[in-house]
Amino acid sequence: MNNNSSNSVSNPKANTDVTKVIANILGEDYQTYQINDTYLNAYNDKQSIIVSQKDGEVKTIQDLIDNDNQEKFKKILQSEVSRKYPKFIADVINKGEGQDKYTFNQDGILVEFLDYTITPAINESLSIILSCKNIQNLLDTNCQVTDKDDYNQPKLDANRPAIALTFDDGPNGNTKTVVQALLDNKAKATFFMLGQNMYSYRSTVKLVYDSGLEVGSHTYSHKYLTKITDEERKNEVENTNRIFNEITGDTIKLIRAPYGESTKDIRNAIGLPFIQWSVDTLDWQLRDAQKVADYVINNVQDGDIILLHDIHATSAEAVGIFLPELYAKGYQVTSVSELAKLKGIDLEKGNLYRTLKK
Ligand SMILES: [Zn+2]
Repeated sequence: MNNNSSNSVSNPKANTDVTKVIANILGEDYQTYQINDTYLNAYNDKQSIIVSQKDGEVKTIQDLIDNDNQEKFKKILQSEVSRKYPKFIADVINKGEGQDKYTFNQDGILVEFLDYTITPAINESLSIILSCKNIQNLLDTNCQVTDKDDYNQPKLDANRPAIALTFDDGPNGNTKTVVQALLDNKAKATFFMLGQNMYSYRSTVKLVYDSGLEVGSHTYSHKYLTKITDEERKNEVENTNRIFNEITGDTIKLIRAPYGESTKDIRNAIGLPFIQWSVDTLDWQLRDAQKVADYVINNVQDGDIILLHDIHATSAEAVGIFLPELYAKGYQVTSVSELAKLKGIDLEKGNLYRTLKK
């Protein structure tokens, strides 16, 4: 940064020229931000321009970045877009076929993505913030690195509708497809796994867990809890907990009874929150990705717990179809525990939960 002087700023003639240049483009109603000693950012609701205070020339953001740093800047922009938005949106923005509006401020650069056509259509304006931390080495700006919130990190919003996705009876070879679809769409879910399948698919259990997704117990071998002895029940639960702990080092916090069958006494004896569902997709019967997806899209409501089975390829495929549609409808898709937290519900041991509504 040139700290010697700001001659051009204090030069009345240059200043007048710059004011004229801006007014010609933006009209009389605009705001300004001093990017650095040379460049001024002038902007209104619709447009943002960069003007050199030395000669009144209008510049693009690329003019402010060294050739060496152009590619780096583009990569940071794209990776921040991908961090904030689901893939179906990020891919369109990162193709760059819309209009990008850059507005500088003391925190960095607000980048708004205008005139991009997203399918399915979404009802929100698209933008990210390139923080000073992101850009400080790439271009000369007066912005200050601060410890503010991480702007582009997706966060759940308690004022918007949200649902929990649950997948039963896995893991198996199809589980990875579900994990990828969830990651691509910035969504989460709870996998109610069978202990015997955890044993056969250890690396998948680890993948689910390391991807920030939730694992609950669906018992070891899917027996009716109401039709077995106390001793067998204890083994069904404890053997599942043990193998999960071996793989991840963590403990199981939720359980779903096989066939949804339990009694209050059984729930109390097992001592975990029992999670049922409010939307049964009957995906094991439908066995058709589009039909399963349509069922989810047409039947969700705020606070619902959706039942699916990741062991079916068609169900796994459906996830990649319905998640963009749910996003477009304004739904946040998360795990059981995160939905409960968002709704301010304490999941209590021995209780049965069918929905998680406020
Ligand atoms: Zn089951």
